[in-house]
Amino acid sequence: MVKRIGIVGSGDGGTLTANLLAAKLSAQIKQDQVSIELFGKDEAHVFQPGNLDVAFKGASPEQFVKEESTLLKPGVRFIAEPVTRINLADREIALLSGGKRSFDYLILATGSESFPEGIDGLTKEGLFFHKGPFDSRKIWLALQNFQGGNILIAITGVPHKCPPSPNEAAFLVDEYLRKRGIRDKANIKFLTPYPRAYPSSEIAKTVQEEFDKRGIEIASFFNADSVDPKNKTISSLEGDTFSYDLLLAVPPHRGAKVIRDSEIGSDKDEWIPTDKRRLNVKNYNNVYAIGDATDIPTSKSGVVAHLESVLLSKNLTREVIGREEDQEVYNGRINCPMEMGRRRAIFVSATYSEPPKYQSPSFVKYEMKRAFGRLYWSAMKGSWEWLFRLYFGKTSTKLESEEILIKPSKSEPLIAK
Ligand SMILES: Cc1cc2nc3c(=O)[nH]c(=O)nc-3n(C[C@H](O)[C@H](O)[C@H](O)COP(=O)(O)OP(=O)(O)OC[C@H]3O[C@@H](n4cnc5c(N)ncnc54)[C@H](O)[C@@H]3O)c2cc1C
Repeated sequence: MVKRIGIVGSGDGGTLTANLLAAKLSAQIKQDQVSIELFGKDEAHVFQPGNLDVAFKGASPEQFVKEESTLLKPGVRFIAEPVTRINLADREIALLSGGKRSFDYLILATGSESFPEGIDGLTKEGLFFHKGPFDSRKIWLALQNFQGGNILIAITGVPHKCPPSPNEAAFLVDEYLRKRGIRDKANIKFLTPYPRAYPSSEIAKTVQEEFDKRGIEIASFFNADSVDPKNKTISSLEGDTFSYDLLLAVPPHRGAKVIRDSEIGSDKDEWIPTDKRRLNVKNYNNVYAIGDATDIPTSKSGVVAHLESVLLSKNLTREVIGREEDQEVYNGRINCPMEMGRRRAIFVSATYSEPPKYQSPSFVKYEMKRAFGRLYWSAMKGSWEWLFRLYFGKTSTKLESEEILIKPSKSEPLIAK
């Protein structure tokens, strides 16, 4: 009987997982023993780090968007239609057109979505670099018209995509204004709910040193409450208020609508309850979640989605071919670049058990960030896995014997041996 693998979400994680599975299971696909169906809202695949280049360097939005079908390997069937409902217990997916698809294994890679409506007044006033390349373009246009005043870079909700991105925005705004020769006419302030310039204390040291050199001010413990469009101010739950001429905001994020509608999400933000090592959706042994969509305590970043895709495609292949005893678990490896202007960068690197270490910005790291960006589209096909294996080193470990599971029947909870 054919084993049907469904993947919902054709972004970073979903696309790579589909391609890696298609390569590993190509023989089984040819013999009609396995099918892979990838569901995406539409044909557009966005390279999201490009938003920063659009917003702060004037790059064209179009260059960061490609057609999903061109990124897929033979063996992946792509259905460009929104999924409206997912029934995990009945193993069924409903599509916008009314069609239904069944699955034996399901991977949820539905990402996270910006939700500026979560803060009163923010939708009207905020300029966003997390909503997509075309929204990011509005920042570039606003910066070009800017002649002086207060620029606020405000984190208005956590967790959000790419933890370093707000800091990058502050550095790149500073750099842009210096190039234009009007830096002295602007105050740049960084508003964050964290107690320091970056969540990790060691990375915060580097960021604070660089903020100090550029005269970027910081307001910590700022939990955004509301924006007052009339007076052009933003206020926090703590009672602080700052006025702005430009409000560059990281909006609150939440899980995809289909996860909310299908009642899969675990809390008010609708992140999918996911085992942080095995990546299965809790209480299901045939459903997995990767990338931004999960509630795993790590960064919402492309690198995490990528490493989880690699691990999951190996484990699922082992499961399909009956080698479950060889399964591995994710060690929480992250590796997020932070561009700091002046062609310098750092990489925030950690695992579940090792926190990030202090580091100094360098040109080499900046060039590495740019190089990873250039590799993105071919990396979606799995072309650079040999290089990433060398670079990332160990990203998973073997299952402990007590973690090996008795295979439960349909929808039964996982049972440890
Ligand atoms: C400004 C910015 C800078 C960034 N920089 C970096 C960086 O330098 N390094 C890094 O590692 N990461 C970076 N990221 C983060 C990275 O882009 C994301 O973390 C990554 O794309 C997450 O991958 P994903 O597969 O989980 O989600 P996504 O790539 O967002 O894909 C989710 C997909 O699911 C689809 N979907 C949702 N609902 C449905 C539905 N109902 N039916 C069908 N499909 C659906 C969506 O349309 C989308 O295609 C950055 C992000 C931003 C915004």
